[in-house]
Amino acid sequence: MRNVIAFFTFLMLISPVTVMSADQDDPIKEWSALQKKSNVGNISRKDAFAKILDLCGKLDKYFIKMDGSKYSREMWVFPVSNGFIGDLKNAGFNPAGYDFLWRKKPKNHPAFDLFVNDKDRDGIDDTAGFPFEILSMSSGVVLETNEKWVPKSKGLGGNYVWIYDTATRGIFYYAHLNDVFVKAGEVVIAGQMIGLLGRTGKNAYHYKSPTHLHLMYLKITDKGPFPENIHADLDRCLKAKKN
Ligand SMILES: [Zn+2]
Repeated sequence: MRNVIAFFTFLMLISPVTVMSADQDDPIKEWSALQKKSNVGNISRKDAFAKILDLCGKLDKYFIKMDGSKYSREMWVFPVSNGFIGDLKNAGFNPAGYDFLWRKKPKNHPAFDLFVNDKDRDGIDDTAGFPFEILSMSSGVVLETNEKWVPKSKGLGGNYVWIYDTATRGIFYYAHLNDVFVKAGEVVIAGQMIGLLGRTGKNAYHYKSPTHLHLMYLKITDKGPFPENIHADLDRCLKAKKN
């Protein structure tokens, strides 16, 4: 009997069906494949949106399976832990024409630039003497990270982190980091340190660019993921941090 069980276990292990479903049910791999296709315009907008909605459902389940703790929007945390000097009103949020699913359209600046206390552009807080810690605003699942940026790389975002927030059905993008402390597939809580700010990215690297975090929040609406103005949230988080 034991031999029969062992034989069937062996069959299940080598079955191609098992391998395929494991791959298809990996939302992290699916996100990465979608990003690649969408970057080169290799998928229609309609199909990309259907895929995003499907992915959200899978990620919601994944978050529960991984014992994630959901933080509501009211519990969001200001993403720059030290040295923020910027003015939220001048953070440059202009989402006009930007479509995450169809990046060939003009994109303006669908994000907030949060400037920090770094006059000499060395990535170190001029007052505190240590790097700027970047915190996840929300809880969620880390979708993708990059920590391989070098000055000759093409990418505008440099080293970055994408996080899907299951609580609000939105996607955060944190760019121009130096070090990245999380990995794709990891579940995070609001306020968790995800990296240190840097000056990575094709434009951010140049001396004329003041050191800043490029922060985008894409809210998944019934028309697609669109950049949402989170000025009020950032303002509330900043006040909470000061108190
Ligand atoms: Zn920016």
